[in-house]
Amino acid sequence: MHSDPRRELWNPTIETLPREALRALQLERLQKQVLYNHERSPVHRRKFEQVGAHPRDIRSFEDFARIPVMTKDEHRRMQQESLERHGSPSALMGCAPPEEIVRINATSGTTGVPTLYTLTAHDVAIVNEMHARKYWRTGIRPGHTMIQALSLSMFTGGLPLSQGIMNLGACVVPVGIEGGTKRVLDMVKLTRPHAIVATPSFGQYLIEEAPRHTGKPAHELGLRFFFCAGEGGGGNADTRHALADGFGARVYDHTGGGHAFHGISCDRADEVDGAMHFVSEDHCLLELVDPKDRTPIALAEGAIGEMVFTFLDWRGGPFMRYALGDLLQVWTSPCLCGKPGIRFKILGRTDDMLTVKGVNVYPQAIAGVIARFRPHLTGAFRIRLDRPGPKVRPPLRLRVEHAGLEASDLASLENRLVAEFRERLHVRPQVEWLAQGTLARETGKTHLIEIAHS
Ligand SMILES: [Zn+2]
Repeated sequence: MHSDPRRELWNPTIETLPREALRALQLERLQKQVLYNHERSPVHRRKFEQVGAHPRDIRSFEDFARIPVMTKDEHRRMQQESLERHGSPSALMGCAPPEEIVRINATSGTTGVPTLYTLTAHDVAIVNEMHARKYWRTGIRPGHTMIQALSLSMFTGGLPLSQGIMNLGACVVPVGIEGGTKRVLDMVKLTRPHAIVATPSFGQYLIEEAPRHTGKPAHELGLRFFFCAGEGGGGNADTRHALADGFGARVYDHTGGGHAFHGISCDRADEVDGAMHFVSEDHCLLELVDPKDRTPIALAEGAIGEMVFTFLDWRGGPFMRYALGDLLQVWTSPCLCGKPGIRFKILGRTDDMLTVKGVNVYPQAIAGVIARFRPHLTGAFRIRLDRPGPKVRPPLRLRVEHAGLEASDLASLENRLVAEFRERLHVRPQVEWLAQGTLARETGKTHLIEIAHS
């Protein structure tokens, strides 16, 4: 089907579909999907009943926006109820019969019981297609080797990502982060990959550790692409530059694991605020809502809202108006890079949101400010709270790693850092300095918030 290796897009027919044609395809698939979901899942059926609607009533996206959203907590409760009452995690939300389910993926479960995604072979093929669309855009082709240094266990970026890379025809080295830094670097030395997929914080740790383990700096390892995943740092220009300089590589941020929401940044990321191109709109209907009352927000240039997505042409456990708790900004104008697709940036988690004297602050935005002070700061930091958010009793306390500065330099740096926070985020943090290497890096996801137990 996709034959010309010189083409710029993996699937040009779909990826360059004009907006109106794409919306028509989405609506057609949505109408089929809601009938399917309603027929097969009591959880989905209840959503329609709550507002006295039937899937046949869905004639427009506006009609569909009346259906109540499903939250992650609700998903978790349904999963538990499903296990208790039916002895299966997907009896209530799953839509395909068990004999068609070929894979269960899960979120990392860092914020509670993992939520599960069930997939049929058809759904797995969609996920593989999306991974191929993302990497192909950046220039990955058959003949390239990609080392995967994300968590390989139930994290949706594990096996599904490896399979997606193979689907494109490139070679994956699924070493995973579980074996530790030395193992990843050993495999880089042995397999000479062109690309690495890792969290930005692990990437920075590799840059620090490469000389000790390999006898040469990271930029001599031969890596030409660094793909950020699993945490937000790839959307930040300074983080990208630190990785690009450290590895001598092109850096891309991307998202999308075992489900239908996928995006990847482009070569003009610095000029478009680190936004990612949305590559899976034919299988994922994106909506934005106000995080407080879930009223719809139009997908217009620059709009910000909580992301709500619905899988289209999906058979296993299709999510319908699912609100994962991510705060998203979207851009609909053509991108400077010339590649198709609306763009989005994940600004933070709506439940990570902290409020300091009524000002909303996201940990990722704090990371962005700290990254501006490289190389004086390592970029590693923690937010220290007395009790769980969102409300923070002022001042906002930050534990920040510096890169081996003298006390006298720290004092002036602190003034500049605090001023930058006031300017950009409208908060005045209290800074506690930590020596370089104090904070742990070797976790799949870095937890930026610490609750003081005193
Ligand atoms: Zn672009």
